Amino acid sequence: TSEKEEEHDYLFKIVLVGDSGVGKSNLLWRFTRNEFHLDSKSTIGVEFATKTIHLEDGKVVKAQIWDTAGQERYKAITAAYYRGAFGALLVYDITQRASLENIPRWLRELREHVDNQMVVMLVGNKCDLRHLRQVEIEQGKKLAEEEGLLFLETSALDSTNVEEAFTQLIREIYRLMK
Ligand code: GDP
Ligand code: MG
Repeated sequence: TSEKEEEHDYLFKIVLVGDSGVGKSNLLWRFTRNEFHLDSKSTIGVEFATKTIHLEDGKVVKAQIWDTAGQERYKAITAAYYRGAFGALLVYDITQRASLENIPRWLRELREHVDNQMVVMLVGNKCDLRHLRQVEIEQGKKLAEEEGLLFLETSALDSTNVEEAFTQLIREIYRLMK
């Protein structure tokens, strides 16, 4: 990309959080590259990916989205991962009830590590797997309301709401900092 395309008014660090296997890496790859990987191993090793968003008022935001390299499996996410984050995508898998039950724990970890006011989008991923659903959409909505989070169900596989989840989060961060 040329230097001109790299120009931006704001840089927002966003972190991906949630249990292993919920689809964090694939949400990132879908949003930044329009790719999907069946084999999750192929996505290991990415530190962050960026995407430039043009807002309605002409401002340009560069979103720097951080992905874990599987450390969440060992509860070994470091403080550096969270440092300076403006927002988070807090992800569970609608086909794994336990991944929703762990959300309060992830939320606590986020709030412990991030000082500044942060915008959090709760995401119920894999909504394409209707026949395997263990979490109703109302359960996700209710938790989001109780905790003051944005909420969407997504599918990294068929692209449902992936763009919306990231851009709603970015718009809300921008709205709050004005
Ligand atoms: P992570 O551990 O949270 O980063 O999860 P991954 O992105 O590695 O995904 C774990 C597994 O779930 C992989 O086999 C993906 O192909 C699969 N997966 C991720 N997102 C979706 C989705 O939206 N729908 C379906 N059906 N599978 C998904
Ligand atoms: Mg991953």
